[in-house]
Amino acid sequence: LENHEEKRDYVFKAAVIGDSAVGKTHLLSWFTKNKFCFDSKSTIGVEFQTRTVTIEGKVVTAQIWDTAGQDRYRAVTSAYYRGAMGAMLLYDITKRPTFDHVARWLEELRAHADNSIVITLIGNKADLVDQRVVPTEDAVEFAENQGLFFSETSALSGDNVDRAFFRLLEEIY
Ligand code: GDP
Repeated sequence: LENHEEKRDYVFKAAVIGDSAVGKTHLLSWFTKNKFCFDSKSTIGVEFQTRTVTIEGKVVTAQIWDTAGQDRYRAVTSAYYRGAMGAMLLYDITKRPTFDHVARWLEELRAHADNSIVITLIGNKADLVDQRVVPTEDAVEFAENQGLFFSETSALSGDNVDRAFFRLLEEIY
């Protein structure tokens, strides 16, 4: 995959957001296999990870930004969202408040990001079936009303993770 970078067609920037401990870091690590990068042009040192994939015959590098801690994140909001074409907005299916806060995250996205940004709502920790408190139907209805894609994932087992990212990247493309 790394060899593809020489003939890369596109770089798509995306952001992973949501409450603390919903699984953002794990989801991103699963998708990128921990290939850490640093934004060399930035003085604030926001971290992102990349993975190069093929979408409809084009070589696309997904450059995915991680919040790397809420405090630090507050100071870099605008840089974080600048140029983002996609966003993964996570909640934890076992923690109702993390789902209730999704509306607030959407407001922030719509205030700082481009209007055309593609957003996927992600109900993470889907492996914790016995602890589920957010019904899938609630999230599906919310996503439909807000014009978001929706997936349930497990960043622990990797279930649906690639599929959710690929769908986001295909939609950006
Ligand atoms: P972040 O603060 O949103 O980046 O969350 P982390 O990725 O650090 O995850 C927070 C905690 O949830 C960690 O203890 C993870 O092991 C756990 N976790 C993350 N994703 C999943 C998942 O899909 N299933 C389960 N069971 N645990 C998860």
